[in-house]
Amino acid sequence: MAIYKCFFCGKQLSQKVLQTRFVCPHCGSRIFFKPRKEPTKVRAI
Ligand SMILES: [Zn+2]
Repeated sequence: MAIYKCFFCGKQLSQKVLQTRFVCPHCGSRIFFKPRKEPTKVRAI
């Protein structure tokens, strides 16, 4: 399962959380990245 990280508050969010609402439940941000190799921005439309 993919883990995303909030771009603003840095909290880790599972893909399951983002499936229901693509919003950070901590700060309301909609920009995330995968903390794997390269920090790729994932942006909601
Ligand atoms: Zn956040």
